Amino acid sequence: MSHLSCLLFTEKLNEMSLVTHKGSCHCGAVKFEVQAAENLVVYDCNCSICKKKHNIHFVVPESDFTLLQGQDALTTYTFNSHKAKHQFCKICGVQSFYRPRSNPDGYGVNPDCLDGDTVRSITIETYDGQNWEATYVKELEKPVPIQSRSKR
Ligand SMILES: [Zn+2]
Repeated sequence: MSHLSCLLFTEKLNEMSLVTHKGSCHCGAVKFEVQAAENLVVYDCNCSICKKKHNIHFVVPESDFTLLQGQDALTTYTFNSHKAKHQFCKICGVQSFYRPRSNPDGYGVNPDCLDGDTVRSITIETYDGQNWEATYVKELEKPVPIQSRSKR
């Protein structure tokens, strides 16, 4: 099996084992459910805001994300291109999920805000968000680019 088809095969396996992860902010006002693999691929981005928050996240399609409660507790911060919607709990300040610039039609979810033991493994990939434009183009060459992670 070639390296590429091997990676695609691994991705397929991951998709077959989608599970429901439950998550929340720190105070519990915001609660959500997300369908994702047990073996998560998580992005560690070095853009200006991710760096300051130490934001790591995995990306899912909108249809795989359900906000269970806390719409009223959420507030949104945007800057620069205003494409990313950085939602966070206005009570405890925790960002458990947001709309990433790479996938504005999906959700970026912080694996550290998942409750329970539904995650089997976490693979961290670095994302050079500091050099956004160049990284965005370079990422498209990967078997599963970050930009496609909100699509089915
Ligand atoms: Zn909270």
